[in-house]
Amino acid sequence: MNLPLRTFDKFSVSYIIRGNVINKSPLRIGSGRSQSLTSAVDNPVLMLRFGEEEVPVIPGSSWKGLLRSEAEVFVRSTEGLRQEFGEVWRACNILEVVNNEELRKSEEQDPCAVCRVFGNTGIASHVRFFDSYPVSGYSLETISRVAIDRITGGQSPGKLFNVQVVSPLTQWSFEMQVLNIDLRENSPESKIISYLMAKLLTGIQIGGGKSVGYGFVKLDRDSIAVKEIRLSKGGLSSQIHRGDSALKVLGVEVGT
Ligand SMILES: [Zn+2]
Repeated sequence: MNLPLRTFDKFSVSYIIRGNVINKSPLRIGSGRSQSLTSAVDNPVLMLRFGEEEVPVIPGSSWKGLLRSEAEVFVRSTEGLRQEFGEVWRACNILEVVNNEELRKSEEQDPCAVCRVFGNTGIASHVRFFDSYPVSGYSLETISRVAIDRITGGQSPGKLFNVQVVSPLTQWSFEMQVLNIDLRENSPESKIISYLMAKLLTGIQIGGGKSVGYGFVKLDRDSIAVKEIRLSKGGLSSQIHRGDSALKVLGVEVGT
């Protein structure tokens, strides 16, 4: 079976998915640097200027990277779906692809299921993720940790360092856009989007400190609103779905 490649030549349908994400454990998107030499924090969280003030941020690129890897794992662990979708139901190794000319060309012409959603060097991404900001109050905590000696596994005395985290139970904005993937059709692309939405609803880890349980975030199902914009014979129509209706559009089992 050779599935047509969805392109942007013609607009057909788009979805704007909005909601709130809550971090159940300390969340840490590092800025990778200390703000100043006199800073009390060795590893501050990433802050962005938002109007007058600076607020912590989960960059859209972090969402995209995380969900792309999730999609790869999903496709590789559901080989049986190849019977339904054909050869397209595979996940390339994107690092290998960019470093191998021959592979790159073939992935551009006949992209795998993951590239059909997230794009590659030859095709544009059909999903777009926006930066997340706290939508309620938030607080920052500094946690002192002892450096673990990588060789002995023991703790090196005196090697204390501190990391800044955003306290648990902070509510963040979440927004993503899906372009020209019809979620009402059964396709490899819609299958992946539905899986990722279900994953966000059950919880996923983002940012640093995964091994110590940091960054467990969950999309709040009651907060989800999906704006569906569709081109039909009558022209553009737009509809906003909430609650169970939103979950249905996203292809997520309402009971889960
Ligand atoms: Zn690919």
